[in-house]
Amino acid sequence: MQRRDELFIGGTWAAPSSDAVIEVISPSTEELVAQVAAAGPADVDAAVASARKAFDDGPWPRLDPSECIDAVRRLAALYDQRRSDIAELITAEIGAPISFAQRAQVGLPWMMMTAFCSLAEGFPWEETRRGCYGADIRIRREPVGVVAAIVPWNMPQFLIVTKLVPALLAGCCVVLKPAPESPLDALLLAELIEQLELPPGVVSVLPGGADVGAYLVGHPGVDKVSFTGSTAAGKRVAEACAAGLKRVSLELGGKSAAIVLDDADPAAVATGVRSASLSNSGQICNALTRILVPANRSDEFVDALSTEMHALRVGDPSDPATQLGPLVSQRQQQRVLGYIDKGQQEGARLVTGGAGMPDGLERGWYVRPTLFADVDNSMRIAREEIFGPVLTVIVYRDDDEAISIANDSDYGLAGSVWTGDTERGVALAARVRTGTFGVNQGYTMDPFAPFGGVKGSGYGRELGREGIESYLDTKSISVAGG
Ligand code: NAD
Repeated sequence: MQRRDELFIGGTWAAPSSDAVIEVISPSTEELVAQVAAAGPADVDAAVASARKAFDDGPWPRLDPSECIDAVRRLAALYDQRRSDIAELITAEIGAPISFAQRAQVGLPWMMMTAFCSLAEGFPWEETRRGCYGADIRIRREPVGVVAAIVPWNMPQFLIVTKLVPALLAGCCVVLKPAPESPLDALLLAELIEQLELPPGVVSVLPGGADVGAYLVGHPGVDKVSFTGSTAAGKRVAEACAAGLKRVSLELGGKSAAIVLDDADPAAVATGVRSASLSNSGQICNALTRILVPANRSDEFVDALSTEMHALRVGDPSDPATQLGPLVSQRQQQRVLGYIDKGQQEGARLVTGGAGMPDGLERGWYVRPTLFADVDNSMRIAREEIFGPVLTVIVYRDDDEAISIANDSDYGLAGSVWTGDTERGVALAARVRTGTFGVNQGYTMDPFAPFGGVKGSGYGRELGREGIESYLDTKSISVAGG
């Protein structure tokens, strides 16, 4: 059992303002993994004051970009040495299978640090344009200020790094609030950041719940909020930011469709959809949870998906052979089981999975990989984000109907098309209203590709050059006779 008694405030470890504690419980053994000091309002005040001073007095926001890039490259080197420790912590906290934790939860953020550095090296921090009236216009991209970065537990390091690293490269100061389910990996990252010896105030890490997040969002010392989480919480964050006229970007939930065209190969679709949607026990924002199949071949696709889901190795997340671990919490397990029950009540056909523990498991917050067929897009299991290993199959008659079903969603995060004809797939991608899309693959998180949603999935983009731009303001300086 780990104990973490201090918070990382402005670059140093400090005792918390209260004795509030977060208990981290193992999703697979249901035993206590760690007790972590929880931040309260006074700790947020201290972290924001320290960030404010670091930003307003400098030197961090005024350094040459090459110095910020150098700091991130040093962080990537330190991170590389602790990759297996971080992956083990994530597996202990949220029950992600260790193989997935190593590859996606830790390997990907590490790769992104270096990718962001190369984007920053080629970034147009300054440019000069000739104005209409003969003056030179010098355009400067300047850091937006003090950033509140708030992340959920499902991909903790990935989500932290997609906010923290571009914000630092832009010259911002960051107060990071990890989710109460996953404070340990964030605190280990704070230890690595401490070794960089950044100026005081540039980074703080404050584990805490929604109340601490809300207090941070409403803090007058914060200039920009970068939030990832549920759509319900995102709306509250947007309202609070509107009241303070703060910049905000929102990466929210999804209910993405896989449009399977009549020329697709069932086995390839089943493998691709399983990998895109059931890694991390389906707790992935861009999971493809609505699988739209042509009516004349629906049985083939349902059979292939069912076979693939049956073959999943469900069990102890610390076993490298495990493909599907538990859900993060008992609350999440009960929520997902509730949706399985609703699906049956709504008249969907349960093909595989359902209520009850997976074979051979007696404890832990597991849910059997579950497939529903004969689903109508109006059912709650097709409309609401379940965030668990539950897939729905919906039939369509022609391409127009498939696109119409895909677009009939409150969300617009991701989607995909599966076809033997790539150009047909690319043409179809243009007709689906989402922020991201995959052709013959689930949407892959490429550090160079902007990621984000439309509609109820939020606004703003992370990753790619746009991921750095979201931490910058643009200033125009017009120079007479320049
Ligand atoms: P959540 O919204 O309950 O919490 C997310 C984070 O926000 C946590 O740190 C929480 O403490 C904090 N928070 C909650 N309410 C807040 C408020 N009013 N003000 C400030 N902070 C607040 O989300 P969750 O259930 O923990 O996470 C799962 C959700 O995150 C899913 O909906 C998933 O789709 C979404 N998600 C989206 C992306 C994306 O990139 N679009 C990525 C991962 C997860």
